[in-house]
Amino acid sequence: MNAAGCWKCGGEPHDSLFCKFCNTLLPPATDYYRFLGLERRLDVDVPALQDHYYRLSRLVHPDRFQNGTPNERRFSLDATAILNDAYRTLRDPVARAEYFLREEGLEPPGQNTRRVPPELLEEVFEVNTALEELRGGGESARPGLEAALARFRALRGELDADLGALFALYDRGRERDVLMKIRGALDRRSFVSNLVEEVEEGLTAR
Ligand SMILES: [Zn+2]
Repeated sequence: MNAAGCWKCGGEPHDSLFCKFCNTLLPPATDYYRFLGLERRLDVDVPALQDHYYRLSRLVHPDRFQNGTPNERRFSLDATAILNDAYRTLRDPVARAEYFLREEGLEPPGQNTRRVPPELLEEVFEVNTALEELRGGGESARPGLEAALARFRALRGELDADLGALFALYDRGRERDVLMKIRGALDRRSFVSNLVEEVEEGLTAR
């Protein structure tokens, strides 16, 4: 949206990619939801988002503005870049939630991802010991690690389901403490996800 109105015709400001008076490409909004004209929700319909993305990519594509004014060419490049970032971020639930938290003024998770969730302390210790063993050639550690990997993958799936439920809960009530719970869930998910990768690497390394 251009606060000063349309740069070309001077029409009153409005939230849109194109001026509703003269259909000129406007400077794009940098907020992903506003840019896409989407309701600010955590629960996003990804197939609908994808359709929307393809439609908008064609509308703002730089090829369409090759013969346009310098302003139009610049806005088309800007809009294309924002559109790609917005799509990549919003189609992925974790990236979307992190973006949403930042926009709501909450420090995104990530700093605490090395902190072991208390309920996993013992298992993480065992897994690290088993990984050491395997690295040293102790093949007897392998079955235990494979079992642990299956459990961690299942746990990551459960955390994804928890996140989905929290998204729906937030969208209904818009309560800030739900956002805090989401941040906690993201933290645990990030930890478990790193753990899955670590064990996968340990099992495939030779
Ligand atoms: Zn205009």
